[in-house]
Amino acid sequence: MTEKRTAWHTLSGDQALAALEATQAGLDENEVEKRRSIFGENALLERRRISLLSVFFDQFRNFMVIVLLIATLISGLLGEYTDALTIMSIVLANGVLGFFQQVRAEKSLASLKQLTAPEARVMRNRAVSQVLATALVPGDIVLLEAGDRVPADCRLLSARELAVEESSLTGESVPVQKDERSIATPDAPLGDRAGMVFMGTMVTRGKASAVVVETGMGTEMGRIAELIQTSGSTLTPLEHRLNQLGRILVWLSLAITIIVVIAGVLHGHALYEMFLAGVSLAVAAIPEGLPAIVTIALALGVSRMIERKAIVRRLPSVETLGCATVICSDKTGTLTQNQMTVKRIWLEGVAYQVAGEGYQASGQILRTDGLRIDQNALLRLADVARVCNNAAWRVTEGHVHVSGDPTEVALLVLAEKIGGTSSVQRVNEYPFDSERKRMSVIASDGTRSVAYVKGAPDVLLSLCTHLMMNGKRHPLTPALREKIGGALAEMARDALRTIALATREVPNDSVSQERVERDLTFVGLVGMMDPPREEVAAAIVECKRAGIKTIMITGDHRLTAEAVAARLGILPQGGRVMTGAELDQLTERELEDAVNQVYVFARVSPQHKLRIVKALQKRGHVVAMTGDGVNDAPAIKSADIGIAMGKSGTDVAKDASSLVLADDNFATIVAAIEEGRNIYDNIRKFIRYLLTSNVGEILTMFFAMMMGLPLPLLPIQILWVNLVTDGLPAIALGVDSPEPGTMMRPPRAMREGIFARGLGRQIITRGIAIGVVTLSVFALSLHLGVLLKTAQTMAFATLVMAQLILVFDCRSVSHGIRERGIFGNPYLVAAVAISFVMLWIVMYLPTLQPIFKTAPLSLAQWGGVLFAAALPTLSVGAKRARRRHATREGTHHKAA
Ligand code: ATP
Repeated sequence: MTEKRTAWHTLSGDQALAALEATQAGLDENEVEKRRSIFGENALLERRRISLLSVFFDQFRNFMVIVLLIATLISGLLGEYTDALTIMSIVLANGVLGFFQQVRAEKSLASLKQLTAPEARVMRNRAVSQVLATALVPGDIVLLEAGDRVPADCRLLSARELAVEESSLTGESVPVQKDERSIATPDAPLGDRAGMVFMGTMVTRGKASAVVVETGMGTEMGRIAELIQTSGSTLTPLEHRLNQLGRILVWLSLAITIIVVIAGVLHGHALYEMFLAGVSLAVAAIPEGLPAIVTIALALGVSRMIERKAIVRRLPSVETLGCATVICSDKTGTLTQNQMTVKRIWLEGVAYQVAGEGYQASGQILRTDGLRIDQNALLRLADVARVCNNAAWRVTEGHVHVSGDPTEVALLVLAEKIGGTSSVQRVNEYPFDSERKRMSVIASDGTRSVAYVKGAPDVLLSLCTHLMMNGKRHPLTPALREKIGGALAEMARDALRTIALATREVPNDSVSQERVERDLTFVGLVGMMDPPREEVAAAIVECKRAGIKTIMITGDHRLTAEAVAARLGILPQGGRVMTGAELDQLTERELEDAVNQVYVFARVSPQHKLRIVKALQKRGHVVAMTGDGVNDAPAIKSADIGIAMGKSGTDVAKDASSLVLADDNFATIVAAIEEGRNIYDNIRKFIRYLLTSNVGEILTMFFAMMMGLPLPLLPIQILWVNLVTDGLPAIALGVDSPEPGTMMRPPRAMREGIFARGLGRQIITRGIAIGVVTLSVFALSLHLGVLLKTAQTMAFATLVMAQLILVFDCRSVSHGIRERGIFGNPYLVAAVAISFVMLWIVMYLPTLQPIFKTAPLSLAQWGGVLFAAALPTLSVGAKRARRRHATREGTHHKAA
């Protein structure tokens, strides 16, 4: 076997094969296994996996936790061992909780990576199969085509028009031509090794077969893997903003803490007592659990999206999804099923109707005027349909098997329905692409060569000079063109996808594409049905309600696009349809001015998509754009949310995207947007809960000190609430179900702050309410002559219970507890129950009572506590009901 680091670029394809002891037929499975045990997986080594231990220690690296630990040390030194030990245990418990949260979040994010793992087409044992790129070994024969990502370093064996974009390796973004005949000098730079293709680069054009020469860390990419892996942070914009918020809160709470400590000391509290109270308060004020819970909410949201077939490739897009104002969607396959069936034919001046559904070759072909069909003409059409085709259709044991482009499969099915066979030999092909909108195959019967051409009718007609009539070639007069145009429009208006077929005799020696695709003879037109996906119409209605505009972008004929868009509810009365040709006439400014009125872009090429995205963005839109081909990548990349098709998409498109649709379905985009909105809502929910609780605690302490009262909450109790009982309900809010109406409100503005739409006000008012009731319970019980310890326990219980009741209100911004129900989120119910039990334990467990300095409460005292704790939530409920009543009256008046 070869030794490491052979200069593969200096060998020819055959020499490389020989050196690798491989053949064009591919390795067999035994050999593959053997080689895998030698060379290992074809994967770049992951950056050092984050060890569980370091995740654990990370939990304690937080600034406030360090302050707390120092405080603990001081209490220990002062001989307050119980305090010190308890604080330590609480910090530890909090660390453990944080640890599990983070491990879980990391796990779900890691599983995401596997979902987007690249695959490769490989020749093994003389058969082509699709395998994970990681399963490749040196000596494997891989097949490459436009849109593929090169899965390993390979030596080309055969190549047609191959161009590869190697910017990830060389920084050069212009694709380079490749040639299997090229043999480079030993010191040739990577960019000049035209006989090689390298892992991680992208095929932008052409086809090739190649033998894998290096895998994994042996590849050129492997050599620079270290560089690549260290770049890029995974923090979302929201996480960044929360980190900033955290820093502000640190300083704010420190300031308040200092005031509280000074006030306490001035009112005669012991310095040590106030020191500990101050530290506890500072800990209370800072929601240190917040970033971890945000990560959890994002990670779990992402796994919910996966269940709905939307695979997030870049985490920040989860947030952007909720802001989307426009979805630009491809038609074929995304809005429609991409299940083509030919329904109509226009052939030599006669219209035909084709019966049958799907890919079964049963269905009669009849003339629409009831006369006898012209079988010879039909056979001529079938001939073009068969030859100018790369799809496969066959029946085995009664089952139909198809592969290839559905448009072409439909043509094969039509040819089967017509009958006959074709025996010509294929000589050359000029493939279809969305730019050219046509393809040609040159085939020979041994004596003469004929070009069989098919494509978009308007494109093809402009290349035709003649047409077939009664078996003879006639010049294509303007009158005949008009007739064809009429037939075409009729098919398109019925939402049929149209294809024109043509032929031309060509000289036997090989000729260029420009010389073949001209002076064509028009053979016929076919119209095929591509039914809309069933769930799409409802999804479009949902978008409308959610303030999101849907724009259809298609390479299809204007009238077909218009008819399909109207059926799906995309095109409203008076909505504009713009073609690629019209778009070409507009300046950037004119397009920006027009773009808001356009609902359908027809007969566009992928390059138009970029202009559309830019114009929409200029108009202030947050744009989601779908695509599947190599040429779609620039538009996908510049869209706010680039979406690639999981099934039909190329690696290039997937690579540029932030979201991949596992089922290629438009409805999945809408589901992802709904999840995106929900994730953001949930994050706001627990921010509201945690911060409200913190405001409540601070105010309780602050006012007590200002009023010269004893400490209403003891340091240990404050820590317990913050580090133990608050956490679970907050996580449960993070996985809450969407509230009704999530998709009935307009998209969130991109620049909107976290505290927008009343969140800041709610946090402050509810926080004040919690502070007021807690302090009132404390002051009142002292006033009534209750023991200090009991009064403190009552304040502690009031605070915890007020939070545990408030948490149910946090489930919705606009709906009250009554509408949302208490049991809607079982996790929340469980979390609240656990937190309640925790409270109970520290109050009633005799061993814990002295540590937490609690006293058991009487039934009457509990009654008072619960009444007071319910007040903040009850009062907002009442206010909300009043407001709702008022708005309802308002809308009634308006309606009247
Ligand atoms: P989308 O709606 O997703 O943009 P599309 O299928 O409408 O996709 P293209 O695939 O670019 O757009 O096709 C444009 C036109 O080219 C079609 O309307 C059809 O007339 C023609 N066409 C499509 N597939 C082929 C093919 N395999 N060979 C020849 N012509 C084709």
